[in-house]
Amino acid sequence: VADVAATIEQLLGADAVFRGDPRPYLSDETETRNLVGTCDAVVRPDSPAAVATLVAWAYEHDVPIVARGGGTGYAGGAVPRGGIVVSLERLDRIRSFDPLVWRMHVDAGVTTERVRRTARESGLYFPPDPGAGEQSHIGGNIATNAGGPHAFKYGTTGAWVTGLEAVVPPGEIVRFGGPIRKDVASYDLRSLLVGSEGTLAIVTGAWLRLVPAPEASQSIVAFYANAAAGVEAIETVLGSGLLVAALEYVDAGALAAAPPPFAPGQGEAFAVLVDVDGSAAEVEQLRLAVLEVLADNARVLHAPDGASEQAAVWRWREGMTAGVTALRGGKVSEDIVVPLDRLREAIERTVEIGEAHGLPACSWGHAGDGNLHSTFMIDRTDGLDVERAERAAEALFALAVELGGSISGEHGTGLVKSGHLEQFLPGRGAELHRSVKSIFDPKNLLNPGKKQ
Ligand SMILES: Cc1cc2nc3c(=O)[nH]c(=O)nc-3n(C[C@H](O)[C@H](O)[C@H](O)COP(=O)(O)OP(=O)(O)OC[C@H]3O[C@@H](n4cnc5c(N)ncnc54)[C@H](O)[C@@H]3O)c2cc1C
Repeated sequence: VADVAATIEQLLGADAVFRGDPRPYLSDETETRNLVGTCDAVVRPDSPAAVATLVAWAYEHDVPIVARGGGTGYAGGAVPRGGIVVSLERLDRIRSFDPLVWRMHVDAGVTTERVRRTARESGLYFPPDPGAGEQSHIGGNIATNAGGPHAFKYGTTGAWVTGLEAVVPPGEIVRFGGPIRKDVASYDLRSLLVGSEGTLAIVTGAWLRLVPAPEASQSIVAFYANAAAGVEAIETVLGSGLLVAALEYVDAGALAAAPPPFAPGQGEAFAVLVDVDGSAAEVEQLRLAVLEVLADNARVLHAPDGASEQAAVWRWREGMTAGVTALRGGKVSEDIVVPLDRLREAIERTVEIGEAHGLPACSWGHAGDGNLHSTFMIDRTDGLDVERAERAAEALFALAVELGGSISGEHGTGLVKSGHLEQFLPGRGAELHRSVKSIFDPKNLLNPGKKQ
């Protein structure tokens, strides 16, 4: 097709095609590792029917389509390699909110924080909390099955989605599940779309499950002399059967790059951050039990009382990515996941892999889920550094598999792990994975090259 944008304008109306500078639609958070794509048109449909018309047209003319949410992904999933970028940003309605039955029905382009805020205003809670909530969309969270710190207690996005509306090739709207809390009539196609990174369908709407908001929460940070002592504390929290809401860690390299201190302890080599929530009485009981466990071997214990001091703890934690990026101007950050009893090994070997490739390395992440943000710090303008980091990332994926884990616990395969999936899913497993793709998308036009 000679002029994709002009043709789509005729099909969907002039306001559906974005005619400004396309650059904001060509990258995601992997820009810190120099990933920027190209496209023939950026389209912003304003209804599921318009998405269906677009997919039908693209299917007829063999044009690839890349769905885009808030562009906060860390795997290059939304980075296009030509074709059409379909931004869901204009599908931003809360279709209905029924607080009395703990339910919300939303367009895919509603932001994570808007869902969380709307729920909170009625005393309800939508737990999934991936970091960039003001930007990320529910559709993007579903497409990556996003987690976040509180996934330890509450599970990832998929656990909160009871139904999906999506456009599938060659251009039809389908619905899997709905405003129902259980559904075992068919194969679980809803779950199949969760985490499918825009390679099987374009999500246009979702029914979300909510719970009453916890009455209270408290945060505690403990600092340790080394990873061994810190991981032992994490294992003791788990082994004591304390169901905390979040169980996070920060290693020495990340601590050194972290934003300005909120408390003493910044000079230490390992931090464990715990959140507890529940009724006021439960929180008090859990907090005391966790403090007792963490105090063993801790060099510094910080258990703030006030809401603003607790918010400061989470601001510090959320600033980790920016702090680590600032150290050398860029980073290659992966999200491997390992069995809980291999966490310490994964943390220590991340640093060793960095050393072996001549790069400073660090990690932080969701200890309770065995999910590391293993990171190699790079100078983005130095081609050699970028190349070294890509090789280090490959060694990291091999490590994850060796330890019985997976190459991605949160961000997906996207572009950055393209080609690595079979390392984790060999043989017949990989064959079935490819078959699923070809049934949904026989022409391989939905986000080609990703999730493989
Ligand atoms: C500071 C920061 C902290 C983060 N912390 C976490 C974290 O704790 N846990 C976590 O899991 N992630 C985290 N992330 C990663 C990211 O926020 C999540 O993956 C997020 O859910 C992606 O949503 P998005 O709307 O930005 O998607 P995008 O980046 O736009 O897209 C991501 C993928 O989903 C596909 N997609 C997007 N919308 C749709 C749709 N409607 N239909 C079909 N496919 C679609 C895209 O094609 C792409 O493959 C963090 C990111 C940042 C910047």
